[in-house]
Amino acid sequence: MSAFAARSTLAAPSLTPRLLDPTLAGKILLPSDDGFDEARRAWNLAVDQRPAAVVFPESAAEAAAAVRDAADRGLRVAAQSTGHNAGPLGALDDTVLLRTGRMRGIQINPRTRTARVEAGVVWLDVVHAAAAHGLAALAGSSPDVGVAGYTLGGGLSFLGRKFGLAASNVTAIELVTADGAIVRADHENEPDLFWALRGGGGSFGAVTAIEFALFPVAEVYAGVMLWPIERASEILHAWREWTSDMPDEMTTVGRLLQLPPIPDIPEPLRGRSFVAVQAFYLGSEAEGAALVAPIRALEPEIDTIATIPAAALQHVHMDPEHPVPGRGDGMLLDDLPAAGIDALVAAAGPGSGSPLLSVEVRQLGGALGRPAAGGGAVSHLNADFALFGIGIAMTPEMGTAAAAHLETVREALAPWEAETTYLNFAEREVAGDRIFGPYAHHRLRAVKAAYDPADLFRSNQPIAPAR
Ligand SMILES: Cc1cc2nc3c(=O)[nH]c(=O)nc-3n(C[C@H](O)[C@H](O)[C@H](O)COP(=O)(O)OP(=O)(O)OC[C@H]3O[C@@H](n4cnc5c(N)ncnc54)[C@H](O)[C@@H]3O)c2cc1C
Repeated sequence: MSAFAARSTLAAPSLTPRLLDPTLAGKILLPSDDGFDEARRAWNLAVDQRPAAVVFPESAAEAAAAVRDAADRGLRVAAQSTGHNAGPLGALDDTVLLRTGRMRGIQINPRTRTARVEAGVVWLDVVHAAAAHGLAALAGSSPDVGVAGYTLGGGLSFLGRKFGLAASNVTAIELVTADGAIVRADHENEPDLFWALRGGGGSFGAVTAIEFALFPVAEVYAGVMLWPIERASEILHAWREWTSDMPDEMTTVGRLLQLPPIPDIPEPLRGRSFVAVQAFYLGSEAEGAALVAPIRALEPEIDTIATIPAAALQHVHMDPEHPVPGRGDGMLLDDLPAAGIDALVAAAGPGSGSPLLSVEVRQLGGALGRPAAGGGAVSHLNADFALFGIGIAMTPEMGTAAAAHLETVREALAPWEAETTYLNFAEREVAGDRIFGPYAHHRLRAVKAAYDPADLFRSNQPIAPAR
């Protein structure tokens, strides 16, 4: 018996959960069910996704049953772990939303220094499990971003200049393919699929688990320095010059912050605006302090940079730790000369009228800039900096204002924009050639045609099957 009704019959009174495939009983919600609104809610609360049904598999077998059933019904499938990047998915009215949030298994192997995590796991949980063995993962800035979406899109960590993109450190991916099979892709098995999954995003199947390398990092010299935003130009110019000669062990971020007066933000910061420099150093405190000294000499009002446990890195960037409504977007920059800092400050600094909560520029280079041996579709970022801006979108009007100002920032920095952009920082649909470059995009389309010719799986940044 099929788990889903075709779209045209979803509202039929005879379709109730008791009629559904017993394997998935209690794990599917239809629009007519109590709790459907909660089930369809994305982490980004500004996104109003309305799928034909939501399914919460608890195992790879259940995910496979759901995929087969959706295909039988002529529906598509969108896998989602949290909905951090739900924005570009678009209308889902012919689509089953496969939410992996109940698949939370984590295994750490301290001997091989690897982790195997199920597709609903968020980074904070991995980071703590790894830290128990003195190991660190290539997590991003946010504690509750999903490992799956982040890794499939590349995975930019504050340890990335030393170790590369998260996708380049994946050893195996388990997934349900469009024919409903449960497949393990690694360097020996399904190598083309393995290549595509590492950076190509969620177009190739419903990932159920990922295996990846961990690193022997117990502590990091890291934190943030903050100055009143009126000093934006001076501080960001100094930061830019400072980044020009950095070991791969150091990663820095220059940032403009306009923090709202809400209880989530701690008191010394609440309701205030800052220019910030963040630093993450893999090495001794003495070396880190010597590297940071030129910026520290600018006498920040707040300075938290110190030796911290690696797991505490998850909180340095002060990302929200629960769902919020937001509108974000990013771009890669080939270069950021002094004129680029002037353009950034004019567009998003004091007096610009920017409504954006945060505009950050992350330093790339190091291992992030070098193609990884045996890497996937995105094995490095061919740019010197990654910019990401985000505004709070409590109302549609706030979302529109944030989107308009993100465009202002993008236009201001356009002279230094790289040829490609970064999938994970794109919160609107971007052409495949722009994300992957024409060659990798062409190859991704061929892999898509081989594994999902009917385009069953929809992703936030879709890859069309080659025809
Ligand atoms: C506050 C914040 C901080 C961030 N910080 C960073 C950062 O430091 N570095 C960085 O690189 N990115 C960062 N990002 C971007 C983030 O990596 C992307 O939004 C990513 O897509 C989120 O993954 P997710 O699984 O949580 O999101 P989701 O919205 O659940 O998934 C996004 C896409 O991933 C794919 N996907 C997810 N799960 C599966 C699955 N099981 N099978 C197949 N496909 C799947 C799908 O295509 C889906 O549309 C940040 C985003 C936010 C909002």
